[in-house]
Amino acid sequence: MTTKLLYQTDSYLQSFEATIASIDEENHGLILDQSAFYPGGGGQPADRGIIKTGGKEYPIFRARKAGDEVIHILEGGIPIPPAGFPVNGQIDWKHRYQLMRTHTAMHILCGVIFRDYGALVTGGDMDPLQGRMDFEFETMRKELVAEIETAINQEVNNTRPVRVKILPREEAFQIPDLIRTKINLLPQGIREVRVVEIVGLDLQADGGTQVANTSEVGRIRVVDYKSKGKSNKRIYVELLE
Ligand SMILES: [Zn+2]
Repeated sequence: MTTKLLYQTDSYLQSFEATIASIDEENHGLILDQSAFYPGGGGQPADRGIIKTGGKEYPIFRARKAGDEVIHILEGGIPIPPAGFPVNGQIDWKHRYQLMRTHTAMHILCGVIFRDYGALVTGGDMDPLQGRMDFEFETMRKELVAEIETAINQEVNNTRPVRVKILPREEAFQIPDLIRTKINLLPQGIREVRVVEIVGLDLQADGGTQVANTSEVGRIRVVDYKSKGKSNKRIYVELLE
């Protein structure tokens, strides 16, 4: 069974119809034939929300990926509705939209730091309205941080479109920007690569959900930085509510 990942082609989908494909007793969850719930990954936390079926509402505590399936995990103690039932799913949009803005902010940061300093990202993580990223940087100073903050906010104000494409593997592997972001680490068996492009700034293989334009991110503040080794520096950012 494969869950069709609706969020991959439409990040703005908040409500959807689906059918319960099977029950996962072990994880106390249900598997749908299609879903807009983001199951987590690439630093972006999983969605939560509700599933309605048979006149009842089931709170989904979080979604999780297992192979090609998305498991929608129910709070403990709540009985699981049976397989075969049609459902309406609704994701917690406030939580998700904050994560979409944060995710795009992280890509703006990656794009600016590579363009202006040639530094590659080595890791990152995010929560709603805050994130951190590690870069291959020798030195990080206060003045540099201020310069980065100005440049990333300039890109928010530049209202750059953010585009998602699903490309055949061979095509994706010919894009120089993708090669630098370690596309070669993708599993061998993958035939298609989902690519997120901030037009004119950043291009990455990415499975997450993002806003459609950098202007939706709003003001980004660089709130802290830290050395995580000789050539590894961590930058912390926050977004406004
Ligand atoms: Zn990403």
